[in-house]
Amino acid sequence: MNKLAQLDQKYVWHPFTQMRDWLRREPIVIASGKGAVLRDVKGREFLDANSSIWTNLHGHQHPKINTAITRQLKIISHSSALGFANEPASLLAERLVKIAANGSQMPDSNGHRPPKFISKTKTANPSLEKVFFSDDGSTALEVALKLAYEFTRRTRGAKTKPRLLSLDGAYHGDTIGAVSLGHIDLFHKAYGGMLFSTDKVMSPYCYRCPFNRAKPERNDARKYRKCLWECVGLVEKKFAAQKKKGNPYAAFVFEPLMQGAAGMIPQPSGWLGQVTEIARHHGALLIADEVMTGFGRTGITCHVDDKTIAQITKNPAAAKLFATQRVGVTPDFLCVAKGLTGGYLPMAATLTTRRVFDAFLGEYEEFKTFFHGHSFTGNQLGAAASLASLEILQTKQSVLQRARLQKWMHEELQTLWTLPQVGDIRQVGLVAGIELVKDWRTREPFALRERAGIRVCEAMARRGVLTRPVGNVIVLMPPYCTTKTQLQKIAAALREAVKAVF
Ligand SMILES: *Cc1c(COP(=O)(O)O)cnc(C)c1O
Repeated sequence: MNKLAQLDQKYVWHPFTQMRDWLRREPIVIASGKGAVLRDVKGREFLDANSSIWTNLHGHQHPKINTAITRQLKIISHSSALGFANEPASLLAERLVKIAANGSQMPDSNGHRPPKFISKTKTANPSLEKVFFSDDGSTALEVALKLAYEFTRRTRGAKTKPRLLSLDGAYHGDTIGAVSLGHIDLFHKAYGGMLFSTDKVMSPYCYRCPFNRAKPERNDARKYRKCLWECVGLVEKKFAAQKKKGNPYAAFVFEPLMQGAAGMIPQPSGWLGQVTEIARHHGALLIADEVMTGFGRTGITCHVDDKTIAQITKNPAAAKLFATQRVGVTPDFLCVAKGLTGGYLPMAATLTTRRVFDAFLGEYEEFKTFFHGHSFTGNQLGAAASLASLEILQTKQSVLQRARLQKWMHEELQTLWTLPQVGDIRQVGLVAGIELVKDWRTREPFALRERAGIRVCEAMARRGVLTRPVGNVIVLMPPYCTTKTQLQKIAAALREAVKAVF
């Protein structure tokens, strides 16, 4: 066994990993990366088909990000944000606020909309003006959560017990606050005693929706579903019931357009606009977790064809970087992390409104301060990498590449429908989840102990493609620099892996 693999097995404890399984076989030790390719210590090459757990945007060793980090390294790597400002963090905060404002009033035209559950005219969007930096997705959510909680007590009265509503199956990180917001039973059960209580409401999952009366087809379940938008109705009901209790929800937390760790579960077109409108109507703050969906991951528009590509060539600035912008919603809190630095360094941000910011202003001795911060808040290296990444994202070349990649992904994914173990293929922009089932005609799932997703991913690794499943859902989330040939290789590896395993 490789020396580094030995050291790893002797000393390292890996996240979300059954270490007994891990210790059974020699791990892949990554030595280097370039573009969409990872190379291990044995010289084997792999395509990074999940962008190193959803973080990498432009590929590894992008010359512009490398240069930005090395340039910053020669100036200073870190000084504290407690008491001092710094150049890259100031510039990054401005850039993030500008990007978050871009085009938020021009939603996608998104086909069939759900019926209106409330008649009131659409509430005006706030604008995001302030940026609180932290280190990762979990902390970005903790910040939003604490701010929303305290803001509610300050505006509704200190006796208020703010309650939060999030979506079933939600994942918002692994710190105690973030886990409390999440609703994945497996993670929840173990730490139940440490968590505070939040409410959950049904999240759309068209493929396995109890309200969907359609028989399975060889198509994305969102396209052939037959329902009456019961999922939207349940959200409305939940908000109304809580209002009746005299303590309306303080905040509504959601992953926009697609829930990631829940199993790459997309929301049918129209759902997000409708439920955020309901939440606003009931006076709740909106906390958008764009840790996975941010920075172009959800694509250019719902569907990209040659016409879209021609349009985007003419006006690349119209391409939105956040999922919430795609539906014309500005949240009160926008949480970003994973792709912020292009996936190079740990850094996160929580954007919020002036209204929230102002509630924390006061005289020193009033202690209205937001008592929260981390040692590396506003880190210069991270901010320099982020600035470079955002610059690349806004180039015409990157926008066009993303549009093309989205179209190629759609084409390649269609080739998987011939496999009887493929139950649902759900693509949102540059992310796709492929749900494996025993029999597509019945949607019968594989039992957990069959480890279907893991086995398929192991078989893909043997074919030079790395990704990590969520249960029995295979995740494809390539870096934006992935070429058509590389993408074909990813799809071929998945096809062959499924055939080989089953
Ligand atoms: C990954 C993720 C988080 C947590 O981010 P970490 O950086 O792992 O703490 C939170 N929300 C979503 C949607 C995520 O995908």
